[in-house]
Amino acid sequence: MHLRYSFRVYPTAGQRALLARTFGCARVVHNDALAARKEARKGGLPYPKSTDLQKRVITAAKRTAERAWLASVGVDPLIQSLRDLDTAYRNFFESVSGKRAGRPVGLPRFKSKRDARQSLRFTRNGFRIRSNGKLNLAKIGDVRVKWSRALPADPSSVTVVLDAAGRYHASFVVDVEPSHLPEVDAEVGIDLGLTTYAVLSDGSVIDNPRFLRKAEKKLKAVQRELARKAKGSKNRAKARRKVAKAHAKVADARRDWLHKQTNRIIRETQAVYLEDLNVRGLARGRLAKSVHDAGWSTFRRLLEEKAARYGRHVGIVHRAFPSSQLCSECGHRDGPKPLAVREWACSACGALHDRDLNAARNILAAGQADRLNAPGGPVRPGVAIPHRARPVERGTRLGDQRSTGFRAAGAGGVSVL
Ligand SMILES: [Zn+2]
Repeated sequence: MHLRYSFRVYPTAGQRALLARTFGCARVVHNDALAARKEARKGGLPYPKSTDLQKRVITAAKRTAERAWLASVGVDPLIQSLRDLDTAYRNFFESVSGKRAGRPVGLPRFKSKRDARQSLRFTRNGFRIRSNGKLNLAKIGDVRVKWSRALPADPSSVTVVLDAAGRYHASFVVDVEPSHLPEVDAEVGIDLGLTTYAVLSDGSVIDNPRFLRKAEKKLKAVQRELARKAKGSKNRAKARRKVAKAHAKVADARRDWLHKQTNRIIRETQAVYLEDLNVRGLARGRLAKSVHDAGWSTFRRLLEEKAARYGRHVGIVHRAFPSSQLCSECGHRDGPKPLAVREWACSACGALHDRDLNAARNILAAGQADRLNAPGGPVRPGVAIPHRARPVERGTRLGDQRSTGFRAAGAGGVSVL
């Protein structure tokens, strides 16, 4: 399975200039290739093949006056930029045809110098890790890396990312063998909440961490500050950097915390059951969705990745399951409950329920039933299919938590059990 490992890197001023130029070249190659495909489509011509495109927007372009500067940077990141565009197209086609599960994927977009996030991908030919721990990037040089943990194997590629807060990261893709943990008996259902982060069917509660709320408050304050600054002013640019830094801080803190929570759950339980988040988000309205979804989808993704790696099971209760209406004692369907109702008594058996705990128990029961009925059933351990680490850098923006999940992992990361 492919995993991502991210580390802060500290390029020198000269290396930053070279990186900036390479970001620019890779962006131009991406945009030229995208424009060529769009034109072909408009003109009713066949879809240009990658090999032809490569010749056109890299090899031939270098010989023209307008694109001669493409020759001044390493060719590997330029080729990877085209490959990533191919993958983005493939994802789009598979999404449209229904071959790809999950959220619909849109057409690839043009990249801009002003994008909050700039990235470059190097394959095996384009980078190596020196014995002194520096990361050698072709035509850039030896870059200092802050190794917060060891890589479990030789990486197959590295993506160098510059985020809106001005920080550089190297994100390595490493192929690792799953290493199953000794089996345990415990299974839990998890109800993701609004007042608390989550309630587990064993009665334990995961609270929203206070430090995260503090960081979010700070973020809101600097965002208000930004809104008051005059457009185009120096102070506005300064305020914008402040917002980016606060954003990065919130994202890092949340990721580290999520790693901690999911590690504990995966270590202690054999199977975890969750509700489908889309169904849940819809039921709760837009505001709740925007505030909480980001964290929830990362929570689920981390659980799935860790389960696949350590031989655990993650089950998703997919249908619009009325987890908060059913009595977990007798199965009576008691009818919808407004969000404000935190406790209720079953009208059939009289059992007194905590809303979230009851829902978690129902999710556990539904998940276990689904798994028993599924072909193959619970005989195979670790049937969860991991979301593979995506070697493709999609055009994401700051704050898009779904897609930035792994990239800027600070002290967090994957190999933590
Ligand atoms: Zn009941």
